[in-house]
Amino acid sequence: MKKIKLAVIPGDGIGREVVPASLKVLDRIAGLHGGLKFEYEHFDYGCDYYLKHGDMMAEDGMERLGQSDSVFLGAVGDASKVPDHISLWGLLLKIRREFQLEINVRPAKVFGGIKSPLANPEDFDIMVVRENSEGEYSSVGGRMFQGDDEIAIQNNVFSKRATKQAMEHAFELAKSRSGHVTSATKSNGIFHSMPFWDEVFRETAAGHQRIETTSTHIDALAASFVTHPERYDVVVASNLFGDILTDVGAAIMGSIGIAPSANLNLNGKHPSMFEPVHGSAPDIVGKGIANPIGQLWTAKMLLDHHGEEEMGSLLLDTMESVTADGFLTPDVGGCHTMDEVVQQILSRLQK
Ligand code: ATP
Ligand code: MG
Repeated sequence: MKKIKLAVIPGDGIGREVVPASLKVLDRIAGLHGGLKFEYEHFDYGCDYYLKHGDMMAEDGMERLGQSDSVFLGAVGDASKVPDHISLWGLLLKIRREFQLEINVRPAKVFGGIKSPLANPEDFDIMVVRENSEGEYSSVGGRMFQGDDEIAIQNNVFSKRATKQAMEHAFELAKSRSGHVTSATKSNGIFHSMPFWDEVFRETAAGHQRIETTSTHIDALAASFVTHPERYDVVVASNLFGDILTDVGAAIMGSIGIAPSANLNLNGKHPSMFEPVHGSAPDIVGKGIANPIGQLWTAKMLLDHHGEEEMGSLLLDTMESVTADGFLTPDVGGCHTMDEVVQQILSRLQK
């Protein structure tokens, strides 16, 4: 029996609704598989934990999470209870940093039955690999002078190691897809970091002769996601560019409630973390209408990560059949509750 030990952090808001629902689905998958078992350790870290204990997680929290094979997270943050900078830095960003989760992988495509702003939504099926640890989101910089003379300087930091690591991952992913990698650049306007990015991209591409490559400036690329989605397969992007592109991707998919992500540790020293793109959605908490697809697609990525691609594909196909048949939550124009959508998925996973 193969065991996968999951550290489960439902977190805040709808995380506490979509995570338990997803565990039911994972258990059903394990049952269908026959030789697979999930072992869960539950952690109540989040904003309520902070209000009780003065910290977002226990002192030995990282050590205990580190004993798992992967972390399965819902959402972190509830600004009505704890300021966002405290909740994010105390939990989500702390895990990303300490577990060296240096790349963020986000697939995007439009499910049948879901309305997308694209004319030909079936053309959109991409995977964005975002460098997750440096780039534009660095703490290097500062402010000087005062009054009307004041200036602010923000330095971008691109290391060859982290840049190449993200790119290598993109090329590896492309091998099992349609074999094309697009690099998001801006070397016509950013004169140091982006030419460096392009150089590392060319060097990485040279090691993967069979993969086709394109470099496209980020502004044109964002527009072209909408006008020519068929051109894209795997896209590799810096921290900021990846952030923006994946929000465009989520908009094309029809709701942020659908988008999944994997934060990957690539040195094997720590677990990876799987979380949907959406936040805790305080406006719909307790209404039973959270879209479970983002968390469930995240569970599919977790299955793939642990070598269970067949089960991962089964889960994805099942979700698509459910949306295609019109079992949709209100965020994607439906009238069904989360439980109804999950029930459909569970019953179709029985056959
Ligand atoms: P964060 O600050 O964590 O990025 P946010 O406040 O920017 O989060 P979300 O919490 O993702 O954004 O919510 C944005 C909007 O999307 C809200 O109106 C919310 O209700 C909706 N939303 C988010 N996730 C879902 C979901 N799973 N199902 C339905 N609606 C969702
Ligand atoms: Mg928020």
